[in-house]
Amino acid sequence: MKIIAYGIRDDEQPYLEQWSKEQGIEVKAVGDLLDDKTVDLAKGYDGAVVYQQKPYTASVLDKLAANGVTNLSLRNVGVDNVDADAVKRNGFKVTNVPAYSPEAIAELTVTQLMRLLRRTPTFDRKQANGDLTWAPDIADELNSMTVGIVATGRIGRAAMKIYQGFGAKVIAYDVFHNPELEKQGIYVDTLDELYAQADVISLHAPATKDNEKMLNDDAFGKMKDGVWILNPARGALIDTDALIRALDSGKVAGAALDVYEDEVGIFNTDFGSFDAIPDERLKNLMKRENVLVTPHIAFYTKTAVKNMVQFALNNNKQLIETGKAENEVKF
Ligand code: NAD
Repeated sequence: MKIIAYGIRDDEQPYLEQWSKEQGIEVKAVGDLLDDKTVDLAKGYDGAVVYQQKPYTASVLDKLAANGVTNLSLRNVGVDNVDADAVKRNGFKVTNVPAYSPEAIAELTVTQLMRLLRRTPTFDRKQANGDLTWAPDIADELNSMTVGIVATGRIGRAAMKIYQGFGAKVIAYDVFHNPELEKQGIYVDTLDELYAQADVISLHAPATKDNEKMLNDDAFGKMKDGVWILNPARGALIDTDALIRALDSGKVAGAALDVYEDEVGIFNTDFGSFDAIPDERLKNLMKRENVLVTPHIAFYTKTAVKNMVQFALNNNKQLIETGKAENEVKF
């Protein structure tokens, strides 16, 4: 059995080598992404492991199949950039990695909240200028707050445990009620109830047609004054202009954003200077000491990257050996 792995970064390489050695299976690592130029490298392999933001086009998938490779294992969750017709037409088997480390995302979310509540960005700036005074930057305590979690999936539940560890009261909204959490009486019935009660709103829902820009002027208007907003889920959940208005008015005390509605082509790019970042709205947010922007890094931990690589390789091996895999995605 031989597997080709596309788009392998330096930080993924050791985990790939470890798996290959342990399994005794040849894995060819290619730094380039899978596209029309690189697809012929797959000739002679039994499966391909991939991860990329750019599309898996019909043209690429047709060529991959013509090269004899129809076992395709993604190292990430989302499959929306895979051409579904080409998958069906060529009889591809596709797998994803539905969970690689929910804790990675939850830990960054709470870390950023604590930085906001304890005003560490302000103290960092003051101290760098030799100012070691306290006032007026008095902090808030999480243990006396109510945290409203939107979506109690894997990440929402991991975040919930940490909030509860800090002593916060947790309430949650989800279209599906987890039976264990239901017993704890954590759920509210509507988002409006969550908005009315929460001091902190922690978003952990996928982006769907129904919840696009769910945090808009109307939603902010229903929240407590001085609410804290955390979004490590998807940029599309927040109307950025409405958030800026809510920050300007003080309705929102601060926000931590690991995602941004226009992040594609901007996040994970080095522009060389702050001024060169080609997005004025994003810079407006980034300039604020009560807004913490991170470029979609919540998933980027050693544990998560190892799991993305090794779970995808396990999936691909299963497909090659049995024609089936636990994490097969139906198109
Ligand atoms: P999951 O599939 O385990 O859980 C999703 C939950 O959302 C489910 O409980 C579902 O019922 C609920 N849900 C769906 N639509 C909803 C809606 N309209 N309103 C309320 N709840 C709704 O997913 P997960 O692993 O917990 O991931 C959650 C999201 O986090 C992902 O969809 C993704 O957008 C984001 N994410 C971000 C990063 C990052 O690096 N920042 C990494 C991975 C995932």
